[in-house]
Amino acid sequence: MTVVGVLGLQGDVREHLRAVRECGLDSVLVRRAEELAEVDALVLPGGESTTMSRLLVAFDLIEPLRVRLAEGMPAYGSCAGMILLSREILDGRPDQRQLAVLDAVVRRNAFGRQVASFEADLDFVGVPAGPVRAVFIRAPWVEQVGSGVEVLARVPEVAAAGVAAGRIVAIRQGSVLATAFHPELTGDRRVHQLFCEMVTNPVGCK
Ligand code: GLN
Repeated sequence: MTVVGVLGLQGDVREHLRAVRECGLDSVLVRRAEELAEVDALVLPGGESTTMSRLLVAFDLIEPLRVRLAEGMPAYGSCAGMILLSREILDGRPDQRQLAVLDAVVRRNAFGRQVASFEADLDFVGVPAGPVRAVFIRAPWVEQVGSGVEVLARVPEVAAAGVAAGRIVAIRQGSVLATAFHPELTGDRRVHQLFCEMVTNPVGCK
């Protein structure tokens, strides 16, 4: 059976373990390189990207992760996970490490600092049957993408969105998916379903 790992150093790990299981795949915690070697794909959860970066270094996971990603292991990063997967971070900490598999520039805490959270209904390319309710919690947005990156969702251009209107908040490059928001928190499994399909049927991925 296909096994999806969830990076379990910090953040909303349980919610992703459960979301993947509800999509019909097995899910396990990944905290060590030996555990990473056993999984077919990896979810990098939301949390705090600078803390996760420090823990990835402390657990000797940066290099093994880079190797698996370079070999084409499918990955999905939500919020802090999106930040870790991207090539460049704006408003990051200077010592923050990145996995740099997404040709994207993301701005950390872009929606506002501290308590700033925001919800919106997004049209999401590849997700059928209507908009996705997106929960943003001290989220990043994507400021720039390379030509190999598909933009899957943007914040709608409505007045209530303020400076977030039109911002890119979901992207995919090959077998790597990232969202600035937290689909694991809403009970709607369609974004995880999209990722699980990328894992089990990689043909559609560029
Ligand atoms: N602001 C956080 C960071 O910099 C991300 C927040 C989240 O994952 N919910 O990592």
